[in-house]
Amino acid sequence: MTDIWSAEKRSEVMSRIRGSDTKPELQVRSMLHRLGYRFTVRGPKNKSLPGRPDLVLPKHRVVVFVHGCFWHGHAGCPDFKMPKSRTDWWTAKIEGNRARDARVANELHCLGWHVVTLWACAVKTRGARDWLEARLPVLIEGKPRKSVAKVAEE
Ligand SMILES: [Zn+2]
Repeated sequence: MTDIWSAEKRSEVMSRIRGSDTKPELQVRSMLHRLGYRFTVRGPKNKSLPGRPDLVLPKHRVVVFVHGCFWHGHAGCPDFKMPKSRTDWWTAKIEGNRARDARVANELHCLGWHVVTLWACAVKTRGARDWLEARLPVLIEGKPRKSVAKVAEE
């Protein structure tokens, strides 16, 4: 097999095959920890809900997916380029994944879950991680955390 994947992509794909935790997932988990959110990664809901969400935050009724940019076809992302060989096969594969992601999000929505989809590129660099961490409360709770300064003013 020719080397169509970057080392990073290969490791993501292999890790999916093994069913283990990807690096972006671990990074999102530590962010949520720092922010004080409680979540499950191997709870019953992680297994039973549509799409088997990576993270479940029961208190907020939020599920989080951490999507690899290649595998889930992150449109416009530099980490997603359709392979030059077997392009038809890959297009069908990735379109299928996109369609499944959309269907799963819809099913979860109908079950009353708020779906937060995070892309691997959002945790790739320090700057991206800082930005995402500041924004996670908005994505999860629909509002930003009060800054320490603001709390002190009240
Ligand atoms: Zn991306």
